[in-house]
Amino acid sequence: MISEFSLIDRFFKRQIVNKPVTLGIGDDCALLSIPQGYELAITTDSMVEKIHFFADCDPYDLGYKLLAVNLSDLASMGAKPLAVTLALTLPKVDESWLTQFAAGFFTLAELYQIDLIGGDTTSGPLTLTVQALGLVPKGQALRRSAAKVGDLICVTGTLGDAGLGLRIKQGYHCLQPDVALKRFNRPDPQIAFGQALLGAANACIDISDGLAGDLRHILEQSQVGASIDWEALPLSVEVLRFIEDTGDWHMPLTAGDDYELCFTVSLDKADAICFPYTKIGVIEAELGLRLNKLGNIQPFEVKGFEHFSK
Ligand code: ADP
Ligand code: MG
Repeated sequence: MISEFSLIDRFFKRQIVNKPVTLGIGDDCALLSIPQGYELAITTDSMVEKIHFFADCDPYDLGYKLLAVNLSDLASMGAKPLAVTLALTLPKVDESWLTQFAAGFFTLAELYQIDLIGGDTTSGPLTLTVQALGLVPKGQALRRSAAKVGDLICVTGTLGDAGLGLRIKQGYHCLQPDVALKRFNRPDPQIAFGQALLGAANACIDISDGLAGDLRHILEQSQVGASIDWEALPLSVEVLRFIEDTGDWHMPLTAGDDYELCFTVSLDKADAICFPYTKIGVIEAELGLRLNKLGNIQPFEVKGFEHFSK
């Protein structure tokens, strides 16, 4: 049986690529020097078997998604990812599982030149935690609390594809399932987009729990309200077909796991953003979230997922 330390060496120790990382895996702490003029953005997200992923989940996808969801948090603040730590609780040491998990994890880490600088390895029910560290120019991070009345509400990409992927896994028959499944299994964190929003957008959040629930966090923290236009939502052909089939037009507003960005931007700065995005609504002084569907405006009250609510 492989020991904890050779497990770390074999699966997780790689060459450090970022200058600010002055010490990586191997000591009691890693060391980072924060370049002048920057702030350190820190986030952590766990994935727990049966809550965040199915027991039969492909370990490559798990490694990929675990890192992606954390990088998505950095993206939503406009931070550039630098380094991560990884805490693994494993029921047993399964070398082929670990090889696949590390392959998924490092595929994304290498794509964005991120160093794995430490972590923890314990035995227990499968639980995976990453802490991600990024750099953002001082004072410029995109906060949830900064939306202003009159701002446009915008999103990147399309909505509901990961939600469709989940429904396909639960048995929904889709003619072309590949894109939705890929969005569910291996989301793309919008890292370049987040950094492109610095100096242009006011508030930003990543869509992890569904647009309506996540936008609500911006509204509450900014003490504003919003109207969004259902017809303006960017939806893929497959999601439109799903809605036609099932009548479930709430899905793209409430399904999680898309990891697109939702941001607010003043009219005069919207054109300065050089990435494609879709305007879906506007920030208003009247509190609450309203949905305009074919000219019929109604309050929209659905909340995001909460772990301790019944
Ligand atoms: P300590 O006992 O001081 O907490 P550990 O013995 O747990 O240290 O870990 C030894 C080294 O290996 C540390 O640098 C730690 O950050 C790193 N490490 C442990 N588990 C992981 C992991 N899953 N991925 C990356 N680094 C890890
Ligand atoms: Mg120690």
